[in-house]
Amino acid sequence: MKNGIYIVATPIGNVSDISARATEILREADIIACEDSRMTKKLLSLLGISSVGKTFIKLEDHTEAKQADKIIELAKQKAVILVSDAGSPLISDPGYKLIRRCREEDVHVCVVPGACALICALQLSGLPTNSFLFSGFIPNKDKARRDLFNKLKDIDATLVFYETANRIIKTLVTAAEIFGNREVAVAREITKVYEECLRGTAKELITHFETKEPRGEMVFMVAPPDDKANNILDVKILLHEELKTNSLKTAVKNLVSRYGLNKNEVYQQALKIKDE
Ligand code: SAM
Repeated sequence: MKNGIYIVATPIGNVSDISARATEILREADIIACEDSRMTKKLLSLLGISSVGKTFIKLEDHTEAKQADKIIELAKQKAVILVSDAGSPLISDPGYKLIRRCREEDVHVCVVPGACALICALQLSGLPTNSFLFSGFIPNKDKARRDLFNKLKDIDATLVFYETANRIIKTLVTAAEIFGNREVAVAREITKVYEECLRGTAKELITHFETKEPRGEMVFMVAPPDDKANNILDVKILLHEELKTNSLKTAVKNLVSRYGLNKNEVYQQALKIKDE
């Protein structure tokens, strides 16, 4: 292998998602920079690769700048593999400062792509993927979380965040307050046995998690502000208003022409309201 840094993605749940190229590189590697060597050794063992004779260097966010010097010196002479505990390095994981330094010092960098939780979540969600904004982990403090959502709420893109099971309800409460009836989604346990992706308004997902305790790793997403077709409750409210004074046909026609909604979807929604 050529000298330099190899950014290698590892699975986010299902070990079979490792690529053939990543497996080969991990087998050949002498030096692996990782967050937690126990996790990396466990992965190697699952892949049938021995850890004996390999050097593991710990790379964490708070020591990254310091460790970068050592890793860069090694990468000038050998191949150094950069992995995270799971998924794609640098994405809410250490590595950015190291790679920036490599660019400054002309050290060879290459990427061996694979699973990335935010991309998998977007693919599962059914929310628009043409434009999205990933904003990492949601702050735990109420004010910081509210400030962040307020800052992002008018951006014309699907918003994507990393979140943990013990915080998701708090996040959904703030989301209900700031995003109102915009559609949101929670993708959890991606590529694992209990993988699921829930969609609805934040209030609907709060109700869900009140009866079914949130568990596992999760990604939280919010539909773009103009995605009116996905704004389930808004359409319902608008239809209720229209149906007070108009026939079903006129109510549907009015909303379709006013908001550019899908005629069939609005019609089906109107039929449901009439039945209720
Ligand atoms: N760098 C990794 C990536 O992008 O794939 C993410 C690392 S970050 C420290 C860990 C967060 O990613 C978790 O808290 C969760 O929000 C998300 N995540 C990781 N694996 C996941 C999975 N299998 N299902 C859902 N979310 C996951």
